[in-house]
Amino acid sequence: MSHDEDRQPGRERELGMDRAITRRDFLNGIAVGVGATIAGGAGSGIPGLEAMLAAAGAAQDTPGYDPPALTGMRGSHDGSYDVSHALRDNRFWTPATRPIDTGETYDLVVVGGGISGLAAAYFFRAGAPSARILILDNHDDFGGHAKRNEFRPGGKLWIANGGTAGIESPFPYSPEAQRLMSAIGIDPVALAAEAGKAADRSVFAGLQGAYFFDKETFGADRLVVGVPGGRGRGRGGAGVTWEEFLAKTPLSEQAKKDIARLETASVDYLPGLSNDEKKDRLSRTSYKDFLLNVVKVHPDVIPFYQPRTHGLYGIGIDAVGALECWAYHYPGFDGMKLDAKATGRMSYTARGDATPKAPYNFHFPDGNASVARLLVRALVPAALPGTTAPDSVLAKVEYPALDRANAPVRIRLSSTAARVRHVGPRGPAQNVEVSYGRDRKVYTVHAKGVVLACWNMMIPYICPELPDAQKDALKYGVKVPLVYTSVSLRNWTAFKTLGISGATTPGMYHTGARLEMPTVIGGYDPTPKSPDDPILVRMTRTPCKPGLPARDQQRAGHVDLLTTPFRTFELKIRDQLARILAGGGFDPARDIDAITVNRWPHGYAYEYNPLWDPDWPDGQSPCEIGRKPFGRIAIANSDAGAAAYTDSAIDQAYRAVHELTSALRS
Ligand SMILES: Cc1cc2nc3c(=O)[nH]c(=O)nc-3n(C[C@H](O)[C@H](O)[C@H](O)COP(=O)(O)OP(=O)(O)OC[C@H]3O[C@@H](n4cnc5c(N)ncnc54)[C@H](O)[C@@H]3O)c2cc1C
Repeated sequence: MSHDEDRQPGRERELGMDRAITRRDFLNGIAVGVGATIAGGAGSGIPGLEAMLAAAGAAQDTPGYDPPALTGMRGSHDGSYDVSHALRDNRFWTPATRPIDTGETYDLVVVGGGISGLAAAYFFRAGAPSARILILDNHDDFGGHAKRNEFRPGGKLWIANGGTAGIESPFPYSPEAQRLMSAIGIDPVALAAEAGKAADRSVFAGLQGAYFFDKETFGADRLVVGVPGGRGRGRGGAGVTWEEFLAKTPLSEQAKKDIARLETASVDYLPGLSNDEKKDRLSRTSYKDFLLNVVKVHPDVIPFYQPRTHGLYGIGIDAVGALECWAYHYPGFDGMKLDAKATGRMSYTARGDATPKAPYNFHFPDGNASVARLLVRALVPAALPGTTAPDSVLAKVEYPALDRANAPVRIRLSSTAARVRHVGPRGPAQNVEVSYGRDRKVYTVHAKGVVLACWNMMIPYICPELPDAQKDALKYGVKVPLVYTSVSLRNWTAFKTLGISGATTPGMYHTGARLEMPTVIGGYDPTPKSPDDPILVRMTRTPCKPGLPARDQQRAGHVDLLTTPFRTFELKIRDQLARILAGGGFDPARDIDAITVNRWPHGYAYEYNPLWDPDWPDGQSPCEIGRKPFGRIAIANSDAGAAAYTDSAIDQAYRAVHELTSALRS
């Protein structure tokens, strides 16, 4: 949809832009129930800061405070990043800034309340049970990327992951990470078995996958139901061959022929090269170039495959190596007789995913927000009632309990660390002063040690005393922007009429839309009884700029996400669903109940991409240089492992705490 069409009032009415959906109108990204309760009082004297911090909100002890129930723009919600961006732009500190000393002292302050920060607090307390700990996070909820969204279409609770989807990683969880999971009650294999037994998905029986070809990219709007389940000439899972599928698409005749050849032929496209030479060549060629120049497909083929790597890499096949795509069994490699080993120049994710391992997977209804919630239960028992992982699913967080004066562990939300520096002479009397922006003011606390479990690129701004080489290394990785959208529908009769469970939409704003199949656990079971019942639709978007180097694509994605208002997302979502489901009687104005856009401009940790990054010697990669401890400050977070996974966040916390406790002992 063009911007001109965006402004067509008739079309907007048809799509339902004038309809009230759950709290959209006054949310638009700002937490309800927060803005009204921000304390007045003396200002900070920092130009513009009061407005910024007012937007961030701070009233986690207000009755009814319940961030998961908010809809609209979530993820990195408005207000959460204003202090960070002011720091980046050198607008935060002025001669008039007078931080307020809270007088609070802690054994440990953790900056960042994601899984890494929560795990750091957990590991620290495991070694020092009486330790007093403060965790600061700039969002209105804890968990970092592991966030929970809730909806109540037709009065029924639906829970969704706003970010981190599940317990699943390219490599096995480390013993330390497994011990932590087990200590907070998570046995992924047992939970998966329990949920598998409880789930009755018969209502979805017979629904198929589909592709939707949009007219802007492919020349015509067309839904093609039934996707070939595998490569080769067979009928695959959906009972359709590639030829049958392609015949229904609006692709050009040459593109159809080339896709059929690519998907079904077994050709050695690099004859005469050894296994290692082939792998090396493929690691230095993008999959797009491999298709165009080696397989020699027509350029019309590319849009069909372009976003296929978005989910894992945040960028398309123009910027992802062909060897990565071999590891994911993309077409084109069957005849090349490559050994099945994960060798050669591959990213962390592809190398791990190509390595067989025992299952250790589970998807809580809110994804790994449950891991964060169970960590919070371990750290602040009063904040989450219950004793088991299943019973946590429906438990409500008691937000006011997170930051109680007499509690050994406190979690302070909507609080952005702005400066972390050593104070006092070196030696046992030295401590670390942490200043943070919250509720229109700047506060300080003191700690014996600090773990920075926040994003690497933020650390040079809050910790300017670090050596320059370390600051440069911390700035190297560019986090991957992503959007996880959930749309709550009053019914899904259009999906049923069309016989689809969702559609891949390679040319559209979100690259797919699918019905949520809920995990049934701990008394949570929103599974619809019929298509007339409410449901969630999940959509993903990965803004990037094909043609640029990977990190520049991600920078462009940050700008895209931070400059796109919720209204634009809503319009695009309504238009996209209306077009995909047009033949099923879908009416976006009538059928959409609520929308939550989880915007993660700074999403996945940057993983090194063999196509764009050098092969650093051991110990010399930016994340290894960047995470070096500095006095009483240690660095955690998944960025420190250059691996965008929950277990990396936990492992980095374990390492950082170990380094910090050694520093505190010396
Ligand atoms: C959309 C999405 C889906 C994902 N899916 C999966 C998955 O299925 N499985 C999996 O294993 N991994 C997944 N990941 C990756 C996984 O979420 C992360 O690796 C992990 O949660 C990172 O935890 P963390 O604590 O290191 O960082 P974060 O979760 O990013 O937490 C860091 C926190 O620090 C805060 N912070 C930053 N600066 C400051 C400051 N100055 N002051 C205070 N706070 C600050 C941040 O805002 C954030 O809340 C996904 C990530 C995303 C974005």
